[in-house]
Amino acid sequence: MTFVDVILPVPLPGLFTYALPASLESQAQAGCRVVVPFGNKKVTTGVIARLHDQEPVGVTVKDVVEILDDTPVILSSQLSLWQWMADYYLCTIGEVFKAALPAKMKTLRTSSLFHLGGIREESAVRNAFPVLSPAQLSALTAIKESWQRLPVCLLHGVTSSGKTEIYIHLIAEAIAHGEQVLYLLPEIVLTSQLTDRLRAVFGERLGVYHSKFTDKQREEVWYRQLSDQPYDIIVGVRSSVFLPFQRLGLVIVDEEHEVNFKQQDPAPRYHARNVAILMATRAKARVLLGTATPSLESYYNARTGKYGLVTLKERFGQVLLPEIEIVDVKELRRKRMMTGPFSPQLLERMRSALDSGQQVILFQNRRGYATHIQCPVCGWVPHCPHCDVPLTLHARSGRMTCHYCGFTAEIPARCPACENEQLRPHGFGTERIEEDICTFFPEARIARMDLDTTRTRNAYESIIHDFSSGKTDILVGTQMVTKGLDFERVSVVGILSADTMLHQPDFRAFERSFQMMSQVSGRAGRRQQRGIVILQAMDVTLPLIHQIVDNDFDAMYQDQMLQRRQFTYPPFTRLIFVYMKHRHASVVDMLARDATQRLRNLFGTRVLGPDEPPVARVQSLFIRRIMLKLESSLPLARIRQLLWQVKAELQNQKTYTSSQIYFDVDPL
Ligand code: ADP
Ligand code: ZN
Ligand code: ZN
Repeated sequence: MTFVDVILPVPLPGLFTYALPASLESQAQAGCRVVVPFGNKKVTTGVIARLHDQEPVGVTVKDVVEILDDTPVILSSQLSLWQWMADYYLCTIGEVFKAALPAKMKTLRTSSLFHLGGIREESAVRNAFPVLSPAQLSALTAIKESWQRLPVCLLHGVTSSGKTEIYIHLIAEAIAHGEQVLYLLPEIVLTSQLTDRLRAVFGERLGVYHSKFTDKQREEVWYRQLSDQPYDIIVGVRSSVFLPFQRLGLVIVDEEHEVNFKQQDPAPRYHARNVAILMATRAKARVLLGTATPSLESYYNARTGKYGLVTLKERFGQVLLPEIEIVDVKELRRKRMMTGPFSPQLLERMRSALDSGQQVILFQNRRGYATHIQCPVCGWVPHCPHCDVPLTLHARSGRMTCHYCGFTAEIPARCPACENEQLRPHGFGTERIEEDICTFFPEARIARMDLDTTRTRNAYESIIHDFSSGKTDILVGTQMVTKGLDFERVSVVGILSADTMLHQPDFRAFERSFQMMSQVSGRAGRRQQRGIVILQAMDVTLPLIHQIVDNDFDAMYQDQMLQRRQFTYPPFTRLIFVYMKHRHASVVDMLARDATQRLRNLFGTRVLGPDEPPVARVQSLFIRRIMLKLESSLPLARIRQLLWQVKAELQNQKTYTSSQIYFDVDPL
């Protein structure tokens, strides 16, 4: 009798054993999908992880109903990657399976195997790519030398240093050797600019993979990668680490510092850069991490000899890095020289840029009209009834919105606490900045790029297209405008409030602020002429502000490393968050205390909390969090085992039924 252990898309740990009817025996292979009974008279689609002949004892084993594939659709390298992800990120392999496969492949119907259009013409790499500058060439050589010693290399190259051109050369070499390339980007918005550039060189050998494509398109890419004519290059966002690769030779992670590489919700809460590195190491492939502002983790790995490090200090074509002028907002406020969030310096620079046909980017890391509204008489602030946050004012829609759950409400005509009728907006979001700018520059064409204006893929692209082609003059936006976009005519960048970013309750706040401000500054003056950045801050004495001005990444790194070491934060420790959610605050509090006690018995003072995360209630669920700070030297396997055990103990208690407990490993 043959049995199969099956991965099912459920949040229960382990594999599920089924018996294989004799009629299906010849068809069954690890990596094939099966239909099996699960739960109350239901069937579901799973994946065979392995075949064996050990009958499970003490349980009735049900039969496999159907096998959907004649050949595996998940490679053994993928199955073992899934297992690694489940282990490392403390989730179930079923949750990884759910995230990995395009939805169609998880349905009960057998999908007809895709017709791949016959024998594809081996389209030659067009010899159209530019000649590298001496600086780019020596970086290219250094990267290749570094790969002789270490599989991972970090390319720290200032904005506009021509990193992409270096990648193109490395890709061409890899595919000339018959290798496949995975090119990871943090954001869908960046893929279109890049895809155009890569298509011009690699034509049909390039495949693109991300969630804004239809499920059918994604399924098609999956099947193509299994065929004998896979795409040589895949460009995609984090989910493309799940694709099958038969001969992976090179992984490029562009903008490696970006937080978006980490999946927040749901499980698996994985970091695509780190998964890609593991995947590449297993396939004996090389990895290049590229960025102008490395994550401190990667830079630490490079400085301690775990990764190679190649630095590119000059911009391509001798374009100078922008000049950054600090503006003391506190002083100007005192002198009553600020107009709302705008300093006279910023307005003057904008005026002269616009007069000479140049463009402007304004960066404010907060969307909406105002942060919130407040009653000036009694101080009342409207909050979301489901989440623990003030509602954000959106003037255009005339409503207040919760940025966590999407709840909206009318702006009240009067304060419900004291009946006062003049409620006042507080703080500046991108929407308000856009509106105010119109009054200063009525002739300018203004666009806004934030979550509210880019709900669809086309919206993103048309905003970027209009700005690149000069149809708009001023682009106002949140961190979205800091991403690696390449614009030709931007001569002025305004950072409206450095303080908003710096004073977040997060040990990474300074690192993030440095990254965002350096990146947005890097959008200025990319061709021909030097750009100017106006950096407005309340506290201009902060060393970080000056490190940004001097583009002194190393100084920031040294400062932050001192802090991280002193307060034992990553990369000196490993963090794991334990999250607990429940509809009742009293239950979640009890659960959190109980969990903390159990964890303390095992891990002692490495357990911190419980506390409330910055937003402690979302969608009517109260949230508590426990932080585990673990020395990197501790054995991970044992820790995982203990954490699963504590979770099981808690979930077996009646008091905590219907609570959620989950882990976030290496949280960002
Ligand atoms: P980065 O990725 O480092 O920000 P890019 O690769 O986007 O920089 O290069 C910045 C600009 O310089 C782009 O417009 C690019 O086309 C141009 N560029 C870079 N290298 C070359 C080269 N070797 N020849 C011609 N143009 C180049
Ligand atoms: Zn009031
Ligand atoms: Zn809410």
